[in-house]
Amino acid sequence: MIFLKTDDEIELLRASNLLVGRTLAEVAKVIRPGVTTKELDKVAEEFIRDNGAVPTFKGFPNPYGAPFPASICTSVNEQVVHGIPGDIVLHEGDIVSVDCGTYMNGFCGDSAYTFCVGEVSAEIRQLLKVTKEALYIGIENAVVGKRLGDIGYAIQAHCESHSYGVVREFVGHGIGKEMHEDPQVPNYGKRGYGTALKKGLCIAIEPMITLGDRHVVMEQDGWTVRTKDRKCAAHFEHTIAVGTGSADILSSFKFIEEVLGDSAI
Ligand code: MG
Ligand code: MG
Repeated sequence: MIFLKTDDEIELLRASNLLVGRTLAEVAKVIRPGVTTKELDKVAEEFIRDNGAVPTFKGFPNPYGAPFPASICTSVNEQVVHGIPGDIVLHEGDIVSVDCGTYMNGFCGDSAYTFCVGEVSAEIRQLLKVTKEALYIGIENAVVGKRLGDIGYAIQAHCESHSYGVVREFVGHGIGKEMHEDPQVPNYGKRGYGTALKKGLCIAIEPMITLGDRHVVMEQDGWTVRTKDRKCAAHFEHTIAVGTGSADILSSFKFIEEVLGDSAI
């Protein structure tokens, strides 16, 4: 069941999502060779709680095992999504996707950004650039009068034109009082097909794009998803409200990119 949001509800979603953007910027400040993903999680959890919100990922149930133990997902290199922060040390040349969720005033925020650790190869920087472009191309299609398939088609076409893989097993989602609401928002699709996009529809669009083959496997921990061929993957996510003429992006990379400066992709 799809819950369309009122303008007031969209403002509450925006507040929660802006906090996610600011939290990711705090994490950006400490990403460097030598830092562990557990340290990133600590920074994020403290910042979220200091701002009167709750990290939605912490304790998130898993039908196949233990609930998620941390406040952010940190997915390094071949890890695609849902990596668990721990003793993994980031090295020069790595990439790390940081996915963050907040719950504040009854509404959820959800956004992700893939960061470079020090200097990263041109091949991998290009993967990040194209994945971020694909996110924005998807968002351009999140307008009244289009359908969900138009979003997926646009993302898929852009990434596949660069010979990248589009992960199928994990998708974006509706968002509101719950982090995961209907509808599912695949990063692949057919133009003109799927749910009609209406004003008040709020969704998280999150392309998960691979340098090699698109197939993924789940690690033993029951959470971490990695590429089968162990080539790198990128992940960028915004929460948006479908609009007339253009979508309203409720999360923000502005704070992150102020921290990254000229090194931003
Ligand atoms: Mg997310
Ligand atoms: Mg999401």
